[in-house]
Amino acid sequence: MRAHRALLLLAALAAGCAAPPAAVRRTRNVVLVTLDGARTQEVFGGVDLDVLRAVTAREDPKVKVEDTPAHGRYWAPTAEERRRKLLPFLWGTLLAEHGAIAGNRALGNVARVTNRHRFSYPGYAEILTGEAQDELIKSNDKVQSPSPTVLEHLRRKLGLDAKGVAAFCSWDVLDAIVEHERGAITANAGFEPYEHPDPEVRLLSRLQLETQTPWDAVRHDAYTFRFALVHLKTHRPRVLYIGLGETDDWSHDGRYDRYLQALERSDRFLKELWETLESTEEYRGRTSLVITTDHGRGDTPADWKDHGEKVEGAQFIWIAAAGPDIERRGEIKEQGLVHQSQVAATLCALLGIDYLAERPAAGKPIAWLLE
Ligand SMILES: [Zn+2]
Repeated sequence: MRAHRALLLLAALAAGCAAPPAAVRRTRNVVLVTLDGARTQEVFGGVDLDVLRAVTAREDPKVKVEDTPAHGRYWAPTAEERRRKLLPFLWGTLLAEHGAIAGNRALGNVARVTNRHRFSYPGYAEILTGEAQDELIKSNDKVQSPSPTVLEHLRRKLGLDAKGVAAFCSWDVLDAIVEHERGAITANAGFEPYEHPDPEVRLLSRLQLETQTPWDAVRHDAYTFRFALVHLKTHRPRVLYIGLGETDDWSHDGRYDRYLQALERSDRFLKELWETLESTEEYRGRTSLVITTDHGRGDTPADWKDHGEKVEGAQFIWIAAAGPDIERRGEIKEQGLVHQSQVAATLCALLGIDYLAERPAAGKPIAWLLE
């Protein structure tokens, strides 16, 4: 396979193309996954002992951090061991065998948001349009995306119907963020039912209302993920976006233990997603996965719960990718900087589409990730 690709590349270079042409790419489908407000600290370093100690002391000063269930489950002496305990599929399989991740600040490899707000809508807008829109989007109010998103762009460029591009999200505001023109794509978010003839899916649509979360606008990620998987199996979308939300909400509530559990659960979803893709004819070997977050959070035990313009650390994110056209670099150790605004063009580039041709102000594809 490698030799075959090298030949294609040589042929293309001989034909006068300076950059590897789209024809060399094997990606036919892309899946974008976001974990809302998942910090670089946990993604690269596993459980943060300072935060766990502070949270434990506040709850009950008599309890030693070493005696907490979270310590027992997630602690290990090195960052590498800790992150593998928390995110075993991401680190053990996905990045080790199929992909790369940018954003480990400890190595001088920085990924950050371009927008100044450092909260959700501005972050998702930057991911999904390729541009920070500081003046247009300055709240989390549920307003329709002011401009077309990369999801709509891909639908048009690939000539797909509305089922061929789908977004399933836990936070209901994402229903409005993912598309400029309502109904352009399949959008399912918040406590919205997913219309499907299967009785089990209809049951899930009802159950999500009966298994309330502490939050009015965010359903449990389990429903979001199940609906996305059903849509994948039923309609075979070429572009799928899964927006998981619990990591952010448990953090705001100060539940560090639940935040860690949500991260671990998200990792299990990634495993099931990847295994489903790899066992499905249309997806196997020609689907690329991009995983990132809308914003970071505070760096210290005093502000890890928060994010926003004035919170130091909330500007830092991470961007991972896996698939047939992604460099198998694991953790990117090179010093440098990438931006959230580059995700949209990266998704397009994987499909051989030049996003900047129509959106010249968007961030460029991330060279570190692309083969
Ligand atoms: Zn958020």
